[in-house]
Amino acid sequence: MNDAILTRLPYEADLLRAIEDICREKGISKAAVSVIGALKKASLGYYLQDEKRYVAHDIPDAVEILAGVGSVSLKDGEPFVHLHLTLSDKDFKALGGHANKGCVIFAAEALITPLGGAIPHRVYDETTGLFLWEQAGK
Ligand code: ZN
Repeated sequence: MNDAILTRLPYEADLLRAIEDICREKGISKAAVSVIGALKKASLGYYLQDEKRYVAHDIPDAVEILAGVGSVSLKDGEPFVHLHLTLSDKDFKALGGHANKGCVIFAAEALITPLGGAIPHRVYDETTGLFLWEQAGK
């Protein structure tokens, strides 16, 4: 198992892709992820449970990443980052949601902690309409 990675993510890179690229390069299929920093713009998702679909909320302005928490697992055999973000705007108002592709990095520090053991794979779940991990013990 690799050591934890503490790294700066590239300027103007897509936040999710930047983390996925590191995982692909380092052969990481299972990890805990946390990230702080700032974005030039952001795209967040909110899942409409009754409709089983995400709505996207794009934020065209610079925001701080107060907390980014997530995981790396496999989806379709590739490292997949699931990340939730709490952001703040210039008025110090917090907002947050599921991180979509389209979050453009201004500056970001990521902690990627590889984990041992069985690698969870995301599979489609009829009940929720989401790609979720298998439940442990099932
Ligand atoms: Zn999510």
